[in-house]
Formats: sequence, C-alpha cells, structure tokens
Amino acid sequence: MEWSISKLSTLRQCHRKFYFSYELADFHFTHAVRRKAFELGQSKNLRMWQGTLIDNFFSKRIIPLYKERKAPDYPALADELVEIAKRQFSFSEQRLYRDKTMTKTKAGDTYQILDIHECGVPYKEEDVLAIYTRIREIILQIPEYGSPDPGKTLHQYLLSSSYLQPDIRYWSYEFEGITLNPQIDLVRRNGKSIHVIDWKVSDSTTSDYSKQLYLAGIVAFHNIKKSNREKGFPDPKLEEISLFEINLMNGNRKQHELTRESSAGALDYVYQFRDEQEQLSQNKKWDELRIEDYQTTDKKETCMFCKFKPLCIHLINNNFKYDENEYYKLVSSRQLAGI
Ligand code: SF4
Repeated sequence: MEWSISKLSTLRQCHRKFYFSYELADFHFTHAVRRKAFELGQSKNLRMWQGTLIDNFFSKRIIPLYKERKAPDYPALADELVEIAKRQFSFSEQRLYRDKTMTKTKAGDTYQILDIHECGVPYKEEDVLAIYTRIREIILQIPEYGSPDPGKTLHQYLLSSSYLQPDIRYWSYEFEGITLNPQIDLVRRNGKSIHVIDWKVSDSTTSDYSKQLYLAGIVAFHNIKKSNREKGFPDPKLEEISLFEINLMNGNRKQHELTRESSAGALDYVYQFRDEQEQLSQNKKWDELRIEDYQTTDKKETCMFCKFKPLCIHLINNNFKYDENEYYKLVSSRQLAGI
C-alpha cells in the first residue's frame, strides 16, 4: 500500500473530494466527467497560481543552475518568469487545455488552468497585473534570503554546496507493509552535513508541515544509508541530517529536528491512519465505485475552497448524472451571480 500525506489530508477534509481527486479524475478525454474532474483538480485560484509559478520556476529553472555551479542571472530570470506567467494566463483564458490534441507535455511550462476561466470566478485585471509585479519582486529577493547556514544568504548557501539533489521522487522506504514515497524538494550536502529542504509558498503561519518533513527525512536517511553501503562508505548518522522548511515567498525558515523520537512519532501517524486511507482507496475500477458512497462534508469552509465545488453541486442537482451542457450553464449562472 502506498501512503500519501496529501491523500490522507484530502480524505480527512471530505470523502467526496477524495473521490473526485483520486478515484474519478483522469486526464484522458474518454469520459467527460472524469476529464472535468481532472481539469478542476488541476485548476488554481490566483493566489495558488502565484505560489506555483514561484515554486516550479525556482525548483526546475533556478536550482539546476546552482547544481551546475552557475550563478543565476536573477533580473533576467525574473523577466523570464513574468513571460511564462503571461503565456499561462493566455493559455488558460483561451481554454486551450480543453483541446483534445493538447497535452501537458506538449504545452510544457505554458500549461495552466485558472479557476477564473474554468469556473468563472470573478477577478479584476489589476489582480493579475499585481501577480506579475509580485513574482518579479520575489525572484529578485530570493538570493538575499537567509539560509540554514548562519551568515550565508540563500544564494551563497546554494553556490557553496558540495552536492545538490533536487526534486527527488524515486526514493522510498517500506514500513510495516506501507510504502513511503514522499517528494523531496532538495537534498543539499556539504561535508558530513545533509539538509533536507522543503520549499513552501503558502502564506499560512499555522499550517504544520513537520510530519511531511520527518517522513522525507526518514526516507532520505534510509536511501543515503543504502547508497553509502553500496559504495563502501560509513552509514550516515541521524544527527547529521537536518530538516528545513524555507518559504520562497518571504524567506521564512523553520527547522525540525530529526531524532529517534520525532521519526517514531511520524511513523506512528502513518500507521494510525493506514486503515482509513486503505478503506477508501478500494483498488476498484472507477465505474465500479458509487459516488453516493462517498459522504459530503458539512463544513462550509471546506466547500468554500474546494476546487470541485461546481461539479459537486451539478452532480447532486442532476441525480449524479454528468451533463456537460447543464454543467456549463451552472458555471455561467454562478459567474453572473458573482459566486
Ligand atoms: S464541494 Fe464540499 S462536499 Fe463537495 S466535494 Fe468539495 S468539499 Fe466535498
């Protein structure tokens, strides 16, 4: 069984949202309702879009430069990101993602679905212009942020690394029949010290990402140990690994200690919720599942921020039968009503 913290978090918010996200959504155009669930799952509001632009660009464009030991030209990169954002906006505005010949691979960094276009969420042009200004400012600020090494800016820290391993998706660790396979944003090594870094772009100061990082730390520890043994090197020590959240929007940093106690606590959490997740991930085909079996939430705040809200309302109103024309009528009526 593959365990995922984001699956679990969706499941705990709303079972029906879990159904839309993980059981129904499919990128193929074969079944209109599955495709619609996919498009809604991919869609972003303007705030999320701003964060994703920064996160993707930093991870996929800027970190690889540091990996090659090149000093990034931040002013040129800031302009490049604004151009990408403009292309994404235009792609979404023209609804090019609905073109059956279009794929994410084909569209590359231009692919985007914004809720203002897909769901008719009202917005002002100045909100979009403010995003272009803000992302440029953030990219220019990033090199001056502080870093996990005292006295070094983030730019100096990255440039002075002996080894950078970004965007790790293939490391996993088996625990009590559960596979842990977290995405690790960056592993930075310098001498014996190993930093596991999670880039954040959320404004929330209350969200707790510690479990996510402990699990990333555990998986990193076991994979580095395995690789060291293959090379005949000594095992890493737990205390050589440090875990950091770095917020790319404002430079805030938070460190979490990877100890025997914190690792055990994170693994207990995985074990505690394994049944809940397993129960709803039934390994059945999508057409063997009944949407009615997945309860809706009664928490209004969860629905307010749910990407699947129009589809959820449409299916409830339409006796769980998807009718694309009726769906779009509902979306336009919400647009007219400004909700
Ligand atoms: S709109 Fe509310 S009830 Fe429907 S899927 Fe989303 S969170 Fe669940």
